[in-house]
Amino acid sequence: MASKEEDQDRPPLLQNQSNASTTPSRSPPTKKYRTDELGLIGKKREIRGPRMVGTTTARSRAREAFSVVNSGQDLCPSSAPASNAGSECGGMEFTREDVDALLSEKPKSKNKFNYKERCENMQEYIKRLRLCIKWFQELEDSFLQEQDRLRNTLNYVQQRLDELEVSSKNKEEELSSIIVELRKNLASAQEKLTKEQADKLAAVDSLAKEREGRLNSERLQASFSEDLAKAQQELSSANQRILSINDMYKRLQEYNTSLQQYNCKLQSDLSTASESLKKSETDKATFVEELSALRGHHNSLKEQFASVKVSQDEAMKQKEVLSNEVVCLRGDLQQVRDERDRHRVQAEALTAEVDKYKEFTGKSCSELDHLTLKSNELEAKCLCQSEQIRTLQDKLIVAESRLEVSDLSALETRAESEEQKKLLSELQTRLADAEFKLIEGDKLRKKLHNTILELKGNIRVFCRVRPLLPDESSSEAKVISYPTSMEALGRGIDLAQNGQKYSFMFDKVFMPDSPQEDVFVEISQLVQSALDGYKVCIFAYGQTGSGKTYTMMGRPGHVDEKGLIPRSLEQIFQTKQSLQSQGWKYELQVSMLEIYNESIRDLLPSNRSSIDSTRTENGSAKQYAIKHDANGNTHVSDLTVVDVRSTREVSYLLNHAAHSRSVGKTQMNEHSSRSHFVFTLRISGVNESTEQQVQGVLNLIDLAGSERLSKSGSTGDRLKETQAINKSLSSLSDVIFALAKKEEHVPFRNSKLTYLLQPCLGGDSKTLMFVNLSPDPSSAGESLCSLRFAARVNACEIGVPRRQTSTRSLDSRLSYG
Ligand code: ADP
Ligand code: MG
Repeated sequence: MASKEEDQDRPPLLQNQSNASTTPSRSPPTKKYRTDELGLIGKKREIRGPRMVGTTTARSRAREAFSVVNSGQDLCPSSAPASNAGSECGGMEFTREDVDALLSEKPKSKNKFNYKERCENMQEYIKRLRLCIKWFQELEDSFLQEQDRLRNTLNYVQQRLDELEVSSKNKEEELSSIIVELRKNLASAQEKLTKEQADKLAAVDSLAKEREGRLNSERLQASFSEDLAKAQQELSSANQRILSINDMYKRLQEYNTSLQQYNCKLQSDLSTASESLKKSETDKATFVEELSALRGHHNSLKEQFASVKVSQDEAMKQKEVLSNEVVCLRGDLQQVRDERDRHRVQAEALTAEVDKYKEFTGKSCSELDHLTLKSNELEAKCLCQSEQIRTLQDKLIVAESRLEVSDLSALETRAESEEQKKLLSELQTRLADAEFKLIEGDKLRKKLHNTILELKGNIRVFCRVRPLLPDESSSEAKVISYPTSMEALGRGIDLAQNGQKYSFMFDKVFMPDSPQEDVFVEISQLVQSALDGYKVCIFAYGQTGSGKTYTMMGRPGHVDEKGLIPRSLEQIFQTKQSLQSQGWKYELQVSMLEIYNESIRDLLPSNRSSIDSTRTENGSAKQYAIKHDANGNTHVSDLTVVDVRSTREVSYLLNHAAHSRSVGKTQMNEHSSRSHFVFTLRISGVNESTEQQVQGVLNLIDLAGSERLSKSGSTGDRLKETQAINKSLSSLSDVIFALAKKEEHVPFRNSKLTYLLQPCLGGDSKTLMFVNLSPDPSSAGESLCSLRFAARVNACEIGVPRRQTSTRSLDSRLSYG
């Protein structure tokens, strides 16, 4: 005894592991059942081998990962969440070898029939397994947390980096735009400046020219004014001369008039003299007469006459002298007049010249003024431009300093972003590490998950009791009750019939008030197994009206009462989504069929034939021949298989199938189904980064009503239907039994249903059976039958290679819970 204990305490042998991993193939079902449970784990792992295709490097990495896992703190230097110190595992840590050794440990029982010892060994073993599982769950949790944390940090840093990059880019863009603008400004200012300077030079040139011109014109003006002064002097002298000439002229005219007056006086003197002559001649005549008369007197008179003649000659002489003088004077006057005319002409010419000068001087003056004004204007402009240039230069200096500052800040941001990039790459490598560890952890999780499920039993039975329906009387005594002892809580169910109490125990009992959600939670692990690449069958068994369809499909139109099928698909789509980040790509294919009277009917719309779904293209009836290939895949000829990508597509197909499903009438339930409904989801997943492949199948089967013939009172066609149903249901239990007993012959071919599901029953596939019960007292008999059937199946779970059938009691099963 002591030596046995020693054996148990010894660390598991490494050879076990290597033996296990080199065992070439799964043991055939014909092999005799062995008590050596742990040896089978190794074999089972080998069976799974081909599914989880991994490279050698992946395997060696796995070893690294496990050493990391076991060192605990190495997993995350900052938080060290993987340390198990003080955890429920009591600080125990496991290496991969530990786990493998634990899984492949052989009970050290010398006496095959010493059940007590074996039981103790088993319990010890289970305890260790539990520790291992707990340890692993904690490890997994810490992995996940660490990954989340890293991912969050990475996201945060990436976000910050992005933000920084964006802001620095923006800043750079802004600054470069400012620089470009400033450069433009500078160029334009410089252009302006050069233009202004050229203008200024031109203006200065023109100013100098203007000045020269001004000086010239001033000189000209001076000479002109000199000329003018001279001309004016000349003019004044000419005027004086004119005045004097005019004076002379006046005097001459006066002299002339006086001469004319004198002439007139002389002429009047002459005329008086002539008159006096005439008078004297008349006097002479009278004198002559008187002479004659007075001859005496004659002589005197003659004398008188002679004297008069002498005075007359004298007067004539005087007149001639005066006329000569007048002619002379007239010549003089003419001369003076001529001279005056000449002077006048000269004066006029001079005046014209003076006018011309005056005009010219005025013009040059205005020009000069204009030029002065222009030059002043230009000078002012020049000043203003110089000022402008100065301000522009100031601006340029400011802009240059700003540019320098911005260059500096750009450099800083660049340095910061470099740092961030470094940090990012560091984080990325850490994330990659974490992801690698996660993948390794995921593999381990799958393995442990499977082990947990295997420990729970590859065939499990859940019992579900539906609530009383409104039209069922609730007054009668209750037939179904639930034991409240610690042991049986949630697992036991008692049925009272004919005063007798029948007790049953299952893996789980759902009471009438259990919502769909709670039921699904219990099977979600099986759905996960399907995603991990296992073949899973979930059956709903029970009499018509007991809630099979409700359990599988749910209540139509009530979202929160969805059944297991829609919920499983939701979980699968969600997991598919979340596993994408680990490189997993899943393809999902759905087919739905019913088996009615041992013949298959496709429930999905076939794209090949639309009018008669039971006929193929060429008119021949569809065969729906079932074939299984070497890889354990099932093919049903002519069956429609649809690729699905969303839950919406699936619910559409489910609705379609629900409509196509055969319904028959029995006394029990008008619309109850008289056929087996098989929903099959094929899951194929590929991980491109780890080159792993998985092929899982999830079968959800709503079995036909299990009621006995007498109760439904069927005859004729109904009788045939019922017989077919009963046959296939008993075939199902026969198959499960044969598998459990590892019998050489498993009667898969006894019914269409078992043949169809052959690869998914037995082996390392997982089976769950819901036994649905109606609480109605009138159904008590049927309920008892269902419970007995279920108990028979439930007892089979120990038939799965790892457990022993013959001696296991319900109580011993408890410890596997
Ligand atoms: P079966 O498919 O076994 O013949 P059904 O699923 O059609 O039975 O259920 C019969 C009736 O009972 C249906 O009206 C269904 O809505 C109702 N029902 C079944 N199970 C439940 C439950 N758990 N809660 C509420 N109603 C239920
Ligand atoms: Mg139904």
